[in-house]
Amino acid sequence: MTAKILEGKAFAAQIKAEAGKQVEALKTQGVLPGLAVVIVGENPASKVYVRNKHKACETLGIYSEVIEMPADTTKEVLMAKIDALNVNKRIHGILVQLPLPQQIAAYESEILDRIDPRKDVDGFHPVNVGRLVTGQPALVPCTPAGCIRMLELAGIPMDGAHAVIIGRSNIVGKPMLHLLLKKNATVTLCHSHTKNLQEITRQADILVAAIGKPYFVTADMVKPGATVIDVGINRIAPKKLAGDVDFENVKEVAGAITPVPGGVGLLTIAMLMQNTVAAAKMQLKQEEYGKYES
Ligand code: NAD
Repeated sequence: MTAKILEGKAFAAQIKAEAGKQVEALKTQGVLPGLAVVIVGENPASKVYVRNKHKACETLGIYSEVIEMPADTTKEVLMAKIDALNVNKRIHGILVQLPLPQQIAAYESEILDRIDPRKDVDGFHPVNVGRLVTGQPALVPCTPAGCIRMLELAGIPMDGAHAVIIGRSNIVGKPMLHLLLKKNATVTLCHSHTKNLQEITRQADILVAAIGKPYFVTADMVKPGATVIDVGINRIAPKKLAGDVDFENVKEVAGAITPVPGGVGLLTIAMLMQNTVAAAKMQLKQEEYGKYES
């Protein structure tokens, strides 16, 4: 049996359409959602990502500011820019594009923590992390949030399923653990020190690979009929990307699988639009009721 291919394009279009409707609804309430993306330096890949985020905003009618800062920007100057965006009423979401240049990379956490948690559309601020872990409404990192939305839209049951995640990063693995828990899955989180990995992955109804190693997940690691979500994006040649999953062989065993490229990667920007709208709604509510509520 060949697996159902979960194409990111259709899911991303659906998520963006949902966000677009909410943008229109907010406009009728006098609010134009706004996103500011701060990019420091000249990293070519980051520039492409930022351009794509700006384009997505334009398509959905979200106000978008791209703030380009020179590569030698100091921590203090960047923090001052974040402070200004935190109090800018036109801006509901703030994102600092990573990676930061070398001279400020060591201050990454400090810099990201400076963002007002209500505007933290990347969901990296400890307040949002804490809210996610304790099951409260939160702004959640876009990639794992996109995976969950895709599973929902594809009708893959999560309640009671055994989900196995490979990778424990703050951006993907750990938030994915909490999002799946919230969906009542039984979750196992594996990482580079996990013993008998194959034994564990073969128990998964839903297997999420977020490792950063091309073709790491092979067919013999997958239970027949499982849903396999490949978060990995690995450049294996100048113009060739590969996922963390050996797609060609795993698709013969799995029940459903995401391709790379064309899978989960497309959902990240769609969820960023969704998070920007959610942040705008939250801030509107706070203005109306005078308290932090979402
Ligand atoms: P990371 O490097 O921060 O974490 C990798 C994880 O893999 C670690 O927790 C590590 O313990 C685990 N790991 C490494 N070797 C292992 C092994 N042999 N066995 C078991 N676990 C092992 O990576 P990340 O930031 O979570 O990214 C993972 C992948 O997802 C990368 O390819 C990245 O490019 C991709 N990614 C894609 C998107 C997107 O689609 N928009 C977003 C973020 C990350």
